[in-house]
Amino acid sequence: MTTTTARACDLEPVVWPAGAVRRDDGALAVAGVDVRDLAAEFGTPAYVLDEDDFRARCRAWRQAFADADVYYAGKAFLCTAIARWVAEEGLSLDVCTGGELAVALKAGFPAERLLFHGNNKSVAELERGVGAGVGRFVVDSAVEIDRLAAVAAQHGVRQRVYVRVTPGVEAHTHEYVQTGQEDQKFGFSLSSGAAAEAVRAVLRLPSLELVGLHCHIGSHIFDVHGFKLAAHRMVALLAEVRHEHGIVLPELDLGGGQGIAYTAADDPMDVVDFAAGLRAIVEKECAAADLPVPRLAVEPGRAIAGPTTVTVYEVGTVKDLPGLRTYVSVDGGMSDNIRTALYDARYTAVLASRASEAVPANVTLAGKHCESGDIVVHDVPLPGDLRPGDLVAVPSSGAYHRSMASNYNHVPRPPVVAVKDGVARLLVRRETEADLLALDVE
Ligand SMILES: *Cc1c(COP(=O)(O)O)cnc(C)c1O
Repeated sequence: MTTTTARACDLEPVVWPAGAVRRDDGALAVAGVDVRDLAAEFGTPAYVLDEDDFRARCRAWRQAFADADVYYAGKAFLCTAIARWVAEEGLSLDVCTGGELAVALKAGFPAERLLFHGNNKSVAELERGVGAGVGRFVVDSAVEIDRLAAVAAQHGVRQRVYVRVTPGVEAHTHEYVQTGQEDQKFGFSLSSGAAAEAVRAVLRLPSLELVGLHCHIGSHIFDVHGFKLAAHRMVALLAEVRHEHGIVLPELDLGGGQGIAYTAADDPMDVVDFAAGLRAIVEKECAAADLPVPRLAVEPGRAIAGPTTVTVYEVGTVKDLPGLRTYVSVDGGMSDNIRTALYDARYTAVLASRASEAVPANVTLAGKHCESGDIVVHDVPLPGDLRPGDLVAVPSSGAYHRSMASNYNHVPRPPVVAVKDGVARLLVRRETEADLLALDVE
């Protein structure tokens, strides 16, 4: 059909998974699977995950950081299959809770490649992690240092740890700020001396082995400046540790937070440039401090999972308020995507089940929940002839969507369907009403 090429243009490559295309009849397909077939087989809403795109992103990070450790931040989205893919692609995995650890262990993830985060890990979580052979714990408080040391001693192991440092750099989206006093719940403040004190505390405990320092400066970051400033301060602390204790710490973890494109207006960093920039600054700072360059680690979550997934919804109602706006309501909402309500996040959306020559109109794509803030996408141009039964797809749904999904209004959470080479397979099934009712014991 002659209109194919023109229609392909509404799928901005920076926003959509690599396998997303418009078929000749105008319908959206991902990795060779027509979304109409996906909707018929798995229902809507559904998260559709392009497996090759996910694996390609893992490989791109692996290659860009060839001489470093790349921990996929499982909180962005984790299930058993994802943990297996991450292991197969040679990445390591960061978990924050006993639940995330359970998924990793069920997937057979190599425990020595796990990093355990969290500002309030329970004793049970510490025991489970140490018992499973988790490679590194990121210690986050003085209480935890003592707790972990006791657990490690009981298990007769010398547990490797990083100390989590708050370096006074906070980055969000397009800006970063330097905070004088690190006012947040995570980690040990650099400027107050708490980080240096935590290093002393760990070094005094024979059941803990301090192998490095960690920081994480924020999320959805678009430039390297905040990372550079953090690296500068972290290398200074490495130098301080050597000066005070005569110890050269071999590892430096600079965290995650690299941004992605939710709309074509976002301009994410290229992973190769990012890796080169980060390495250059660490090498320069280490040379200046006469320190050997530590093995680097990074923890991307969103940058790997986010762009791989589109959410497919079905339109239920269209309410036109002349002179005001048009509300197009779909069969999901804040239970499958809390980010719009929580962060006023911006997204794009397309009509996915057919072609339309109708003039686009800016509409509000709304959810079905009992909350007026339940919006999926604000002010998105969609064809003026949108009608009930149409499918709509929202890209960049792979990170912090399913992992933050809820059962608000007793809505069962949607399935995650992997697509690859024209074949769809279920990774996580849709919840049922029976699943929801199973928790009511009386
Ligand atoms: C959330 C988090 C990450 C991942 O953040 P993204 O924005 O998804 O890359 C990495 N490390 C830590 C410590 C985190 O809290």
